[in-house]
Formats: sequence, structure tokens, C-alpha cells
Amino acid sequence: MGGTMRAMGEPVIPVADLRYAATVPQIPADAPAPSSEVRDRRGRPLRDLRISVTDRCNFRCTYCMPKELFGANYKFLPQSSLLSFEEITRVARLFTAHGVHKLRLTGGEPLLRKNVENLIAMLAALRTPAGEPLDITLTTNGSLLARKAQALKDAGLQRVTVSLDSLDDATFRRMNDVDFPVADVLHGIRVAQQVGLAPIKINMVVKKGTNEHEIVPLARHIRDSFGPGVVLRFIEYMDVGASNGWRMDEVLPSAQVIEMIDRVFPLRPLEPNAPGETAQRWAYRDGGGEIGVISSVTRAFCRDCNRARLSTEGKLFLCLFANHGHDLRALLRGQHPEGRPYTDAEIAAAIGLIWSQREDRYSELRALQAHDTGAKAPRIEMHYIGG
Ligand code: SAM
Ligand code: SF4
Ligand code: SF4
Repeated sequence: MGGTMRAMGEPVIPVADLRYAATVPQIPADAPAPSSEVRDRRGRPLRDLRISVTDRCNFRCTYCMPKELFGANYKFLPQSSLLSFEEITRVARLFTAHGVHKLRLTGGEPLLRKNVENLIAMLAALRTPAGEPLDITLTTNGSLLARKAQALKDAGLQRVTVSLDSLDDATFRRMNDVDFPVADVLHGIRVAQQVGLAPIKINMVVKKGTNEHEIVPLARHIRDSFGPGVVLRFIEYMDVGASNGWRMDEVLPSAQVIEMIDRVFPLRPLEPNAPGETAQRWAYRDGGGEIGVISSVTRAFCRDCNRARLSTEGKLFLCLFANHGHDLRALLRGQHPEGRPYTDAEIAAAIGLIWSQREDRYSELRALQAHDTGAKAPRIEMHYIGG
């Protein structure tokens, strides 16, 4: 453990074992007990925790883990630095006290984490302060879904999001860059549907010049083959991380996606399901279900952003575009100056303090800049922190 604890008011001491800079959180002396009411500096509550369970992946999607950078020599996190299932569950429980009621497991590829279904079972046993079960979901590339869906469902997973960027096999293989066939992902979605994971969401990242010709065919296929229980969402290609060589002219604005689909399958807008929902929803006018668009670039939704992200080795990030985390693992594994482990109350108080100081609104600021400046500050990579 490379961190050094500090009391309120002392200077920030960076931890030595870092992938990305992180500070050891302060434990406030007289914090009130968590009440689900913690707000950040922009008045946003804390509702959604995204947990990365591995930084490894069996795909090399060109926009996320380009092969040239994530090749045989890339050093993934060692096993010893990963949070254990018990540690993840403890952190998730402390977050529920602050108002989190939605958990999303992600990665890397979360289904690569050994026995991830055991973690799901542990998380499914958690309750909100009001005694409600949590909304638990998982984002996967679908490659192992056919094999794992039943175990995930049995463990208490309710629903799943599957990433799928193309229906055309050649395009799909090119984008995942490991020659993985699209038929296997479609089969995984089918099995997930059969075991009762619902609703199933399909995420397509649209990259101009790469897969926009797949928008309508994929929409048609999902409607025709899977029916209204499977919701396709189109995500604008984001400048997340610093390794994908993102350019603004490769972003296809969601408004154009909607126009393309509306020409073939007329659409009407729907109200959001919940405050802070990232996707704008549209219904097929003929009753054939709905689609969504996530316009992270052209329509920033920072104002309602109630999401925190926990990295595989226990660093808390307050924004997808952050370059600095808060090392919760240092508290989970560290010692109080009195020579005892930190208590739940102390760690919960530290989390509350971190959230109350949050100001992040990267996408809003990017929109204010109006164009990509080309500048790339170092920041967390998507495979490390998840979507
Ligand atoms: N491996 C899993 C998967 O692909 O579903 C989970 C982790 S992945 C990082 C989570 C989501 O982030 C995926 O839907 C992926 O398509 C999306 N993603 C990755 N890089 C992106 C980028 N540059 N812009 C937009 N979405 C991105
Ligand atoms: Fe892996 Fe998901 Fe990133 Fe693709 S998007 S490389 S499947 S983590
Ligand atoms: Fe939330 Fe950061 Fe995305 Fe804004 S840019 S919506 S603050 S994660």
C-alpha cells in the first residue's frame, strides 16, 4: 500500500502505487451520518455507482483499447491490487447509505472476472436504507454471455447491457479487432433474453466513417428478431481517455441518427424514465418498441450527472473524464492512526466529503469550447473505469 493517511487540512499526499493519480481520502472529524441527501457543489445527488471489476478485455475495440497500445507488453493491474468481492460489496453498501440505488458492473470485460456471479449474489443481498433491493446491471461485450447468462440471472442480476457496434460481421470483426464473430454476440443476447434478463439494452457506439451504415440495419434486426424487450441505444463516440486518437469529425451527432431511423421507422419522443437518465428515448410509432440516443458530445448531461465510478483497484472517480481519483482501497486496507482498521462510519464519512466537494462537468465545458482543441490532458481510460 503506497498511501499515507492524513488528517483534515494537511496537504495532499499522492499514493505511490498508481495507475492514475489518486489521493488518500480525508476522514472528516464530525461528519453527520449518511442520509442519502449528500449533494455535490452543483447540487447533484449520488445515485449510481459504476464498478469496474477488471481492467482486462478479450476485445481490442479500436476506439477503446487500440491494439498498438494494449498489446502483449501492456501491464494490466496485478491480481493483488484488485478489490476483492468483499471489499467491493463493502464499498457498495457504504454508497447505498449515501443514496446510491443503482449499481453497474463494468470493466474491461466484466465477465472475464472469475466467479463474477458470486459478486452479483453479494450485491443482490444489499438493501437501500428504505429496505429496497438495488437495481443491479452489467455492461458486457457479450462474448461470454451465452455461457454466463443463467448463472448471472440465478445470482440476482436483473438486466444487462450488451455492446454491439455492427450487424455486419466484417465490420464487427474489424471494430473488435480480435476477429470475434457477431453471431456469437447475437446468440449471447438471445440466451440472456431466454433466461429472463430484462430489459436488455444494446449499446452501439457510432463512429463516423466506420459504422454509421450499420445504424438502420441494426435497428431493423433488433426490432425484427428480438422485439420490444430489447432496446437499442446509439452512443456518440467520445473523447474519453487519451489513447483512441479521437477527433470531433468522427462523431456522428445523435440528431442525425434519429433522422436516419425516422426515415425508415417513424419515431416519436418519449419522456425520460428517471431523472439523470443519460439516454433520450424515442418510440417507434408503429408500436415496435423504443430506441435511445446518448449524446455525450453534442448534448452534455452533466447537470444531472449522479454517477460515481469505482476502479478495479478501488479508486473513486467522480467523472468519466477525470484524471485524479480518491484511493478508497487505502482506507479499506489501511490502518487508522490508532492502529485499528477504519470503521464503516469513517469510510462513509470520507465518501460523503468527496462527493460534497465534486464540481466535475467536463462535457459541458467541452461544449462551451465549441470545438476540439486537440489538447489531450492525461485522463482515465475507458477499459480501466468502464462506461
Ligand atoms: N467491455 C464491456 C463492453 O464493451 O460492454 C464493458 C466496458 S466498455 C468500456 C463500456 C462501454 O463503453 C461500451 O458500451 C463501449 O462501447 C463504450 N465505449 C468505450 N469507449 C468509448 C468511446 N470512446 N466512446 C463512446 N463509448 C465508448
Ligand atoms: Fe473491451 Fe468493452 Fe473496451 Fe471493447 S469497449 S475494448 S469490449 S472494454
Ligand atoms: Fe458526468 Fe463527467 Fe460525463 Fe459530465 S462529463 S456527464 S460530469 S461523467
